[in-house]
Amino acid sequence: MKLAVLSREPINYSTQRLVSAAESRGHEVLVIDTLRCYMSIASHRPTIHYKGDALENVDAIIPRIGSSITFYGTAVVRQFEMMGTKTLNASLAISRSRDKLRSMQMLARKGIGLPITGFAHSPDEIPDLIQMVGGAPLVVKLLEGTQGIGVVLCETRKAAESVIEAFLGLDTNILVQEYIKEAGGADIRCFVIGDKVVASIKRQAAPGEFRSNLHRGGSAEVAKITPEERKTAVRAARVMGLDVAGVDILRSNHGPVVMEVNSSPGLEGIEMATGKDIAGLIVTHLEKMLIDKPKRVEG
Ligand code: ADP
Repeated sequence: MKLAVLSREPINYSTQRLVSAAESRGHEVLVIDTLRCYMSIASHRPTIHYKGDALENVDAIIPRIGSSITFYGTAVVRQFEMMGTKTLNASLAISRSRDKLRSMQMLARKGIGLPITGFAHSPDEIPDLIQMVGGAPLVVKLLEGTQGIGVVLCETRKAAESVIEAFLGLDTNILVQEYIKEAGGADIRCFVIGDKVVASIKRQAAPGEFRSNLHRGGSAEVAKITPEERKTAVRAARVMGLDVAGVDILRSNHGPVVMEVNSSPGLEGIEMATGKDIAGLIVTHLEKMLIDKPKRVEG
């Protein structure tokens, strides 16, 4: 097969692992900088050009679209779809999972456990908003934050009011969320491929920190997950329409709650902690997708 990894970072761990896993299975692999693709949107013969040449005969793509380029990146993936190229994750599924409000609404509609979450645009009724999610302590999150940046734990109602007021005053979009204290600063990353959790790790926050992001000094170890957690992770990926996803779960008193479903989950942390060949499993799954009938993703 001729495969293309859409990535702006040719030398990052995940990209390199995907390339070597595909090459070791005898595939030809290109790494394409998503932002350097340009396209002609025509109904007869849609095309994509890259650095001056038409990209032809690509059997399948592995999109690794960073959150800062979701808009253009998903357009490139969509163009490949129009050309009949298989994609590991569909453009629609990537767009859905990137929109935190939309994905939480979709997950809630399917009865998947979530932390009680509120969102608001105007700073008028902050006390009621706080009440809606069960009062302090609570977590306030910037909608566009990543790697734990813009995730604030407000221990008291007063602190929550000030933080929410400050964020809304800056005209940013925020989520206000029940604080899952019993998670003890840990979350579970379930790596889903197809309808299976192929690996899971527990990320534990550094002492004195509640955010378990590895970028914030968190540590990772293999996690043994319950059947309920497994089912929740697989269902969350399926609701988004993602074939490959990193589903982040918190262990709450009311069962597993999904925090986020990531469409380009990193491979380094999970491969290092589990010793599993996740890149190989992804390529094998893609091979299977090329043989199987196309799946419809509903809008
Ligand atoms: P980001 O997408 O920026 O990583 P997250 O929403 O995943 O932001 O939050 C970062 C970390 O903060 C999580 O990995 C988790 O450890 C912790 N966290 C986030 N939300 C909650 C919550 N509602 N209750 C308890 N801990 C939380």
